[in-house]
Amino acid sequence: MRCAQFRTALSARLDGEPSGLPGTRLDKHLARCTGCRDWLDRAQRLRAQVRATAVDGPAPEWAAGLSARLGLDGPVGHAPEGPEPSERREGPESSER
Ligand SMILES: [Zn+2]
Repeated sequence: MRCAQFRTALSARLDGEPSGLPGTRLDKHLARCTGCRDWLDRAQRLRAQVRATAVDGPAPEWAAGLSARLGLDGPVGHAPEGPEPSERREGPESSER
């Protein structure tokens, strides 16, 4: 087996795809081969970065869409508990009474 084959398998394993090799075999090679360990380290960091940027990108839009969907799906005519009590206390009705 060449390192390139192990790295292909390791990359697949990082993606959660079937690597075609038993994990123990990959780990054994990693234990012996510093080159592949370094490669895996870099691959994992790169993947984390890609994931972080992927989350940063669409997150605000996605969150807005989600809250909009939650607002639409939520109970209609039921005001949220948050701002209501303070509005009533400071409102003109309560000061008149
Ligand atoms: Zn190797």
